[in-house]
Amino acid sequence: MNNLAVFFLFFLACSAGAQSQYMIEMDTLTPNVATATLYLSASNTSNRLTLRGRQIGSDPQVLNPSCNNQPLLLVAKEQWLAPEYCSMVTWTIRFDPALQGNVNAYEQRSLFFADRPWWLLSEQTSLLRSENEKEPIRVSVHIKGDKFQPNPKQSWLVPAKDSAPGFYAFGELAEISRTHGNVTVHHVADNANRIKRLGLISAHEQAFNYMVSLFPHPATDHLLVVWLGIDKKHNQTSGATGDNSLLVNYQYGGDKATEALSKAMTLMTVAHEQFHHLSQAALPAAWLNESLAQYYGLKALSYSRLPATDQTHIRTKFINPDRPIVKGLLGIQQEYDAGNSSGYPRFYDQGATFWAEIDRTLYDESKGECSLDQFLPLLLSRYDFGLHGELPQYFVARLRDVAGKRIDEIVAKYVTAE
Ligand SMILES: [Zn+2]
Repeated sequence: MNNLAVFFLFFLACSAGAQSQYMIEMDTLTPNVATATLYLSASNTSNRLTLRGRQIGSDPQVLNPSCNNQPLLLVAKEQWLAPEYCSMVTWTIRFDPALQGNVNAYEQRSLFFADRPWWLLSEQTSLLRSENEKEPIRVSVHIKGDKFQPNPKQSWLVPAKDSAPGFYAFGELAEISRTHGNVTVHHVADNANRIKRLGLISAHEQAFNYMVSLFPHPATDHLLVVWLGIDKKHNQTSGATGDNSLLVNYQYGGDKATEALSKAMTLMTVAHEQFHHLSQAALPAAWLNESLAQYYGLKALSYSRLPATDQTHIRTKFINPDRPIVKGLLGIQQEYDAGNSSGYPRFYDQGATFWAEIDRTLYDESKGECSLDQFLPLLLSRYDFGLHGELPQYFVARLRDVAGKRIDEIVAKYVTAE
């Protein structure tokens, strides 16, 4: 054996266990709790373990973390210290019982749904990680119970530390999967019949077919949407966006008109978030990221066959060329970069109005030959934005080729620093 081969074998041996891993074990006899184990990588250099849920203010769902039967020391809120050289930490995850019609998606809890049964795991409140562990970590779930034999082990990657959070669904999911081009969407709902009756899946399908057509090379090939119903007694609706996953509240049980309008609003929100997922464009300014996602969320809505009155109602909340401009988007972005986020909602309404005006002008001037859709890949691939998200000159010049000076007038109206 030559030296290179010896080195290679040595390297392989050393790289085994180089990655941290989670193992979650469920038992259907005790469905409200799970045993979680984190195998720490050999290269881990910190014994401080934390949760990412602090940012959302949700209570931890971690009980009794320990290493070799020795309890970890709680050193700060949601921060534990493991003994030195600890390589395996175990704890109990406590799943909240999901209350029919009253699950607030924004709280991002790990939940147990007793009916089928199935579970929603929220990494942020339930999975400890070493404070130095920045890379994605594989999580495997193993369910014990008659219903789940034979038991194919499921596994996913928990996102890197600075990414959006991870949400995972497992158990008897009654999942509805739809493939659109290169992307498969997995729909999981608290009540699969209800979301079908409401038409949420078909409306999503119509809107998403259009959305996927914008991305010949989408940033992901799978998305999870978890639909959580809110009944008329609990009015709030919200959502939470994860890494290739989305928790979304939808309303049901109110009068027909409220239900229909709320459905259109929900679909717009989902489309907005999925634009982020498919583009994963790290454009250099919040105004660019949010205004594009909002405009395309609204445009995708128009491809659904939801009632035109509901669509118009929502569209005009955001897109309104008659709304006076108090400050240009670059000016609002500069304030935002300096820590003042009071103008943030303008990225959604003024920003969406800007793109709507550009899109309409391209369409009109080209007599229906062109739209903003064709220029989207060019915009998303540019790296020469200005410091506060000023549009690349080359991009503006290409729009001008189609629609002339009108483009400059629209940019000057909406995207100034004043
Ligand atoms: Zn957004």
